Amino acid sequence: MGMHEQPAADDGDALIRMEGVNKVFGNFTALSDVSIDVREGEFLTLLGPSGSGKSTTLMCLAGFETPTRGRILYRGEDVTRLSPEKRGLGVVFQGYALFPHMTVAENVGYPLVVRKVPKAERDANIRAMLSTVGLGGYEDRRIQGLSGGQQQRVALARALIFGPKLLLLDEPFSALDRSLRGEMQSELARIHKELGTAFVFVTHDQDEALSLSDRIAVFNKGKMEQVASPSDIYEAPASTFVAGFVGKTN
Ligand code: ADP
Ligand code: MG
Repeated sequence: MGMHEQPAADDGDALIRMEGVNKVFGNFTALSDVSIDVREGEFLTLLGPSGSGKSTTLMCLAGFETPTRGRILYRGEDVTRLSPEKRGLGVVFQGYALFPHMTVAENVGYPLVVRKVPKAERDANIRAMLSTVGLGGYEDRRIQGLSGGQQQRVALARALIFGPKLLLLDEPFSALDRSLRGEMQSELARIHKELGTAFVFVTHDQDEALSLSDRIAVFNKGKMEQVASPSDIYEAPASTFVAGFVGKTN
């Protein structure tokens, strides 16, 4: 059981909840009756093969996509029609790129500029956040000159700078090589512990999910087949799909 695992509860501690969400593109059903709670401070991983609906789930949580049916409740309030900004959550998505011509500090501070935070306060927050992500002193460096791992750290810092309660990450390390990937996984675990922000992390990598998560939600063909702690998923898979994808027999 993960160290942030909380006792079973139905809705008391849900930060954000999807209720019976369907998402249809044309005549293709990408999500089918998905209901899931994200608890305060937890590390929840959405795990499944390519095309199983993980990114669509994240896009709905973020507010980049509107569910065709169902509701999304933030602390009990329906936010289905609220923009990502209004939901107050951070995102690290592919295609949500850094500004390559700007400095690290300008990238990380951007969400604070948008929120009209005064410069002195901004600079102090940027300094602290860069130190949290292991980039202390990198303020004036340009994005173009940084390694892939360093750019991922900048993206994390930018997503976390305004203190969101929830951070959404869509396969943030998939482009990194194996050793860098391992390093970034431990960094992410450390940052999660340090900040106490709830993380929803998407991956198709079973080992990554098993090592990082408080809970894992397993997706297959647009359906969520099981949500449980890594040990329960591994030891007591709820379906033959889950058993085949993550279970002991894999
Ligand atoms: P995953 O992230 O698990 O790989 P996705 O959520 O991206 O899966 O996609 C689930 C399914 O929905 C895929 O078959 C994908 O082709 C389809 N899909 C996703 N977004 C769109 C879209 N904007 N238009 C049409 N089909 C889409
Ligand atoms: Mg995806």
